[in-house]
Amino acid sequence: MLSDKQLFLQFLGQTSPAPLMIEINSAKGVFLFGPDGKKYIDLISGVSVSNVGHNHPKVVGAIKDQVDSYTHLMVYGELVLSPQVRYASHLAEILPPALNTCYFVNSGSEAVEGALKLAKRFTGRSRIISFRNAYHGSTHGALSIQGSETYRNAFRPLLPDTYQIDFNDFESLDLIDEKTACVIVEPIQGEAGIIVPHTGFLESLRKKCSDTGTLLIFDEIQTGFGRTGYMFAADRYNVAPDIILLAKALGGGMPLGAFISSGEIMSALSSDPPLGHITTFGGHPVCCAAGDAALSVIIEENLAGSCNAKSALFRQKLKHQLITEVRGEGLMLAVQLTGHKYVEYVVANAHRYGLIMDFFLFCNSAVRLAPPLTISEEEISMACTQMLDLLDDASKNAIKA
Ligand code: PLP
Repeated sequence: MLSDKQLFLQFLGQTSPAPLMIEINSAKGVFLFGPDGKKYIDLISGVSVSNVGHNHPKVVGAIKDQVDSYTHLMVYGELVLSPQVRYASHLAEILPPALNTCYFVNSGSEAVEGALKLAKRFTGRSRIISFRNAYHGSTHGALSIQGSETYRNAFRPLLPDTYQIDFNDFESLDLIDEKTACVIVEPIQGEAGIIVPHTGFLESLRKKCSDTGTLLIFDEIQTGFGRTGYMFAADRYNVAPDIILLAKALGGGMPLGAFISSGEIMSALSSDPPLGHITTFGGHPVCCAAGDAALSVIIEENLAGSCNAKSALFRQKLKHQLITEVRGEGLMLAVQLTGHKYVEYVVANAHRYGLIMDFFLFCNSAVRLAPPLTISEEEISMACTQMLDLLDDASKNAIKA
């Protein structure tokens, strides 16, 4: 009989020639457990999904209760389903006031697609501006606005009338004009290697969009739900977008995405033509129940508020000759190493040190730190000791890249 690892390679479509290939049987809190009982500290949260930790009892309970009532009943937007309406109203309570109308989808990429269509439809314009080194997903629209030429080029032709400008470059905001439907931005760039906005950059972007009638879209798919030390980066920087995109932690470990805007803007999707944007599974009741329970946990356990002290502890403990910088906000961190070869070694060998670690898509000189927000001080100390041992190993054994 073939092992699961052999079946994985034989029957699953692969995303790269070098998957991590670590077998996992169960998960609890910040830990993943292998079939041999080996325990790994999850420093990634699959990326920024498990903000409340794995298998939180309140999330598992909400899922079980909902499964006992019903699962999928009908395409999105026809029936009144309690988990959907309760979660949408809960989100409206904690988001900036104008972001009060939620369109649920299944994933981050789909939230991006919906928002781009909404912006075109509402403004009657077609131009979309995004940022170099931005990541917004892998579907065709999301790929068209992704800030990496390497990935875009491989799949042309893509969406026309899309332009990329530089994050934190105030002058490039002049390219936003009355022909621009929307600007989409990650308030903190994730896959670029955790790049925080310079003081005033998001405010200037907001002003330029308001002055030109351009919709400002915040992709908070990674930054959302407490990860930056605030519930949303919009709160952290005190800038409200016209549309916010949520996914990843939105579903509390279940697949869920959303684009959220004002009732006025959102109404552009429901007529002329009606059913211009539809989804079968978007806002799946089980995913909404899980997400709503996870959001309550984030609030009740003050996970956003406790993030900054945890971030400081990582920064204090992660001192090593291979580390040049630990940057980011809250528990959305990049550990900058002295070279690419060390990053490759660290990610490939982390499992030997009981850690799950990962790369960034567009920054090959840093490793990602995005543990569940529930991680305790003791667990942070344990993770840092294991990481420092791994870095010692890397400094001796990493092969010259
Ligand atoms: N936007 C950002 C900022 C992301 O980090 C991601 C996924 O990593 C996406 C969009 C796409 O989300 P999904 O993988 O759920 O389609």
